[in-house]
Amino acid sequence: MNEFDLIEKYFNWQTNNPDFLGIGDDCALISIPEQHKLATSVDTLIEGVHFPSNTSAADVAHKALAVNLSDLAAMGATPLYFTLALTLPNIDESWLEGFSSSLKTLSEKYNLFLLGGDTTKGHLSITINVTGTLPINQALLRSGANVDDIIFVSSTLGDAALAWQKIQRDKTPGAKILKKFNTPEPQVLLGKKLLGVANSCIDISDGLEQDLSHILNRSKLGARIDISDIPLSDEVLMYVENTKDWCLPLAGGDDYELCFTVPKDNIDQLELITKELDIKLTKIGVITKNQDLEIVGLNKTCTSYQHF
Ligand SMILES: [Mg+2]
Repeated sequence: MNEFDLIEKYFNWQTNNPDFLGIGDDCALISIPEQHKLATSVDTLIEGVHFPSNTSAADVAHKALAVNLSDLAAMGATPLYFTLALTLPNIDESWLEGFSSSLKTLSEKYNLFLLGGDTTKGHLSITINVTGTLPINQALLRSGANVDDIIFVSSTLGDAALAWQKIQRDKTPGAKILKKFNTPEPQVLLGKKLLGVANSCIDISDGLEQDLSHILNRSKLGARIDISDIPLSDEVLMYVENTKDWCLPLAGGDDYELCFTVPKDNIDQLELITKELDIKLTKIGVITKNQDLEIVGLNKTCTSYQHF
C-alpha cells in the first residue's frame, strides 16, 4: 500500500459540504462564516512521551484530536475542520483501521471535517491542527479575569495523572481514571456556553497550578484557591488521603478540563449552564488584586509538567 492508497482508504471522508474543498488538491479551501474569526491550534502526540506504547490505535486517535479540541473549547470556539500529519513506523492496516474509525467518530461528534494532511515514515507521532470559528470579539481569553471573579473548574482533576502514574509503576488504574487518561472528553459544549458568561478561560493540560497561573499572568492579577475545594474522583481522593500528595491533582496535567473565571453577576447564568449540560462545575477560589497564586492548605511547592 502506498501513501496515496493509504489516504484514500483511511482518511478520505469526502463531505458534500459546499464550504470546503478537502483532500485531493494541493491545498484545502475553506469558506469562513461572515462576522467570524478563525481560532486555530496545533498539538503533537509522540508514542512513549504522551501515550504508552501499548495504547490502542483507537485511543491514540481519540486523544490526539481531543487535546486539540480542548484548546478550541478553552476559547469558546465552534470546531470547523482539522488537518493531520501522521508519522508511522510501518503500514499496519489493523492499526490504521482502528485509528481512522475512532478519529472519524470523534470528528463527527463535534461536526468537524478532516481537510488534509501528510503521512511520513518514522517513530509513531500524530500532529493535528484544529480550526474553529468564533463570533468577532467574543473569544474567551486568558487576559480577561477581573478582581473578585469566582474561579471554577469542570469535572474532576488528577484522574489522568493518577492513571499515568499507576501505569508507570505497573499498577492497574481503575476504569474511570484510565478512560480519562486515554480518551479525555473535550469540553467543547461548555466552552461555547461560557461565551459572554466567563471573563477568562484556559484548558488544563499542564496542571491547574500552572494553567491558572497563565490566566493570572495574562490578566496581571492573583488568586486564592483552597485545596479542599479541588474536585476529586473517589480514586484520586483515596490516593490524596493516603499520600497527602496534593501536587498530583494540582500539577499532574492531562486533565483537559476548563478553568475559568466568572463575575458574581453571572453566577445565575452559570447555574443554568450546569443544569443544561448536566455537568459538574466547582468553585475553587477567587481572583485577587495582589499578583500571586495563594493555595490554601498546600505546604510545599509542586513541580508542574514541563515539556523540556
Ligand atoms: Mg491549551
